[in-house]
Amino acid sequence: MILIDGKKAAAELRAELKQEVTELKGKYNKVPGLTVILIGDLTPSQIYVRNKEKSATEVGLKSEVIRYPDSVEEKTVLEKIKELNIDETVSGILVQLPLPKHIDKKKVIEAIDPSKDVDGFHPMNVGNLSSGYESSVPCTPLGCYLLIKKIEPNLNGKKAVMIGRSNLNGKPMTQLLLKENCTVTITHSKTKDLKAECLEADIIIAAVGIPELVRGDWVKKDTIVIDVGINKTDNGIVGDVHFDEVSKNAKALTPVPGGVGPMTIACLLKNTIECFKRSQI
Ligand code: NAP
Repeated sequence: MILIDGKKAAAELRAELKQEVTELKGKYNKVPGLTVILIGDLTPSQIYVRNKEKSATEVGLKSEVIRYPDSVEEKTVLEKIKELNIDETVSGILVQLPLPKHIDKKKVIEAIDPSKDVDGFHPMNVGNLSSGYESSVPCTPLGCYLLIKKIEPNLNGKKAVMIGRSNLNGKPMTQLLLKENCTVTITHSKTKDLKAECLEADIIIAAVGIPELVRGDWVKKDTIVIDVGINKTDNGIVGDVHFDEVSKNAKALTPVPGGVGPMTIACLLKNTIECFKRSQI
């Protein structure tokens, strides 16, 4: 079984991006800039944002974090986004989710200029992705896609089963797989026989949020299994896939932690650089 090392893949991607930033600096005499808006003091969000900032600086991006207290008014955030939309030094804008209840997530996402939407959540980018046009792609599915391609460069005709249909993971992931000519089955909480669906799959991506849902006897030999789940349990952090059981059958499997997670941030940096390059044309 191939243990898909997301930490190593992310480090390789960051090294490539660092080189690219150096070249862009030589060509344009400026570097891509990433601005993150962080509202409130939720610990996981603080940790994510700190890691994003650290990684952005490591590859040579201009990185800025704008912090607001939980009580910030929605209009203050929307006005700041408007400012950032026209700031030429800002290539990418990310508003860290979740937001406090009094702030409308949809309004915030739609306020971001789609050409600076490094999370790929703006409806324009969602539409572009599903139409097969150039767009920012949500970072976690993009990371999963790059990991799958490392194991299997040619996905033509492969059967893929996506477990979960969220806007964040499931839906964009299926678009990426369709583009690669996979036959994709999208499953969710109302799917009748998930095990039977999984047993048909050459590729399984689990983005559910249920600890160790995917069991060893759900996976046929030679399946690539990507575990997006991050679940806190009494035994520590586990994924949506039963690692010990599935590793006995799968061709390749991502661990949790150390699989998809590190790729998510590296893909955010990649998206920022792509936004910068598109803005120079
Ligand atoms: P989400 O929005 O809660 O969506 C979960 C999906 O799973 C839904 O589509 C739901 O179906 C489906 N589901 C629930 N129970 C199911 C079942 N028994 N069988 C099949 N499908 C079922 O979750 P998300 O935001 O996509 O996140 C999923 C997981 O990924 C979480 O553990 C999260 O922490 C993790 N995550 C990791 C990263 C990373 O960087 N590694 C990034 C983001 C998220 P319905 O649509 O029918 O409700």
